Amino acid sequence: MKTNSICVQGGYTPGNGEPRQIPIVQSTTFKYDTCEDMGALFDLEAEGYFYSRLQNPTNDLVAAKIAQLEGGTAAMLTGSGQAANFYAMFNICGCGEHIVASSSIYGGTYNLISVTMKKMGIDVTFVSPDATEEELNAAFRENTRLVFGETIANPALTVLDIEKFAKCAHAHGVPLIVDNTFATPVNCRPFEWGADIVTHSTTKYMDGHGAAVGGAIVDSGNFDWMAYADKYPGLCTPDESYHGVTYAERFGKGGAFITKCTAQLMRDLGSVQSPQSAFLLNLGLESLHVRMQRHCENGLAVAEFLSGHPAVAYVNYCSLPGNKYYELAKKYLPKGSCGVVSFGLKGGRKAAGVFMKSLKMASIATHVADARTCCLSPAITTHRQMNDRQLLEAGVPAELVRLSCGIEDKEDLLADVAQALEAASQS
Ligand SMILES: *Cc1c(COP(=O)(O)O)cnc(C)c1O
Repeated sequence: MKTNSICVQGGYTPGNGEPRQIPIVQSTTFKYDTCEDMGALFDLEAEGYFYSRLQNPTNDLVAAKIAQLEGGTAAMLTGSGQAANFYAMFNICGCGEHIVASSSIYGGTYNLISVTMKKMGIDVTFVSPDATEEELNAAFRENTRLVFGETIANPALTVLDIEKFAKCAHAHGVPLIVDNTFATPVNCRPFEWGADIVTHSTTKYMDGHGAAVGGAIVDSGNFDWMAYADKYPGLCTPDESYHGVTYAERFGKGGAFITKCTAQLMRDLGSVQSPQSAFLLNLGLESLHVRMQRHCENGLAVAEFLSGHPAVAYVNYCSLPGNKYYELAKKYLPKGSCGVVSFGLKGGRKAAGVFMKSLKMASIATHVADARTCCLSPAITTHRQMNDRQLLEAGVPAELVRLSCGIEDKEDLLADVAQALEAASQS
């Protein structure tokens, strides 16, 4: 099946007389006839369900669809995008080890790596998303265990040169983890360019309706853990907490990563997605391919309109010719990038405030990647404790507005932006 069909049909094929929509298995636990039956599950010897913190049939159907969409071998859902990124990294990197990460990533992930994981004894070297191979190679250490980046970074909208990052990661015998939230597998499949693990905040385009917080982790099945067994003892030596199972041996390249992540991290840390949320996520996935097309059309139309407007100082949108990342976007995102556009107003912080207040259809929200157009000014909201100089250093100048174009009618959206710009330029 092609991507468009997987969005609709992937993950679940009902048998004769079975429900057409995926069933919500709203049960914490599962019943067995004998202790031996259940014991085999606990030993990971048989497949099945015993407790929804570890696995749930509804979640597994949705995870299977996401694995198919990304072209991976296995996937799991998590309670949020934050949990997905933490689990994906912590599954192969622990105390005394080191991460190489693009500096252009979601603020929550930046904090997770630089503050919380740091407290756990994990070191990081941040590199520019534009780093040369030479600069990238210089960031690695003997104890580096993974490289991390975002296909299209939130909110900077930089595009990751996935092939280059993957090449450097592999030259140092470590996998590349790519957060593919903004592009979605409809617009980019990072495994095709050498990424090894993909993560998602399904809260964004995949759900797409602002209904359920969630995350996902997908394994390409390509990384040969056993070839670097000394680096990944968690995958390549017996797990005493699971009766001595060696994940990479028992489950192979295609299954080891997700099995360990479920059996250890989900077991010990929780962060499950509820089956209800997984059901809502699946409804979103059914129209993901249609929505992404419209998000991209609207995003490009708004970016073009803004770039020709006298009140606008600059526009960031990688699919707009002339953008710094246009060539990378053409390579990795030929069908379109996403609906998120950021821009600066010549009138600075004050004009940004008037622009946002004047929007009629678009709403002010901290959310992005939603069916409804929404708008945020970092200087006035998420970063309001910073002065103008600090804002500039953080890459979110005072006049910056982030507009997440929804799937409304293009003419209505452009008219709303036009009248708000008019108000802003008169302020
Ligand atoms: C929102 C977001 C996250 C965090 O996801 P939550 O679902 O909010 O926990 C991670 N990465 C990216 C790129 C995001 O946009």
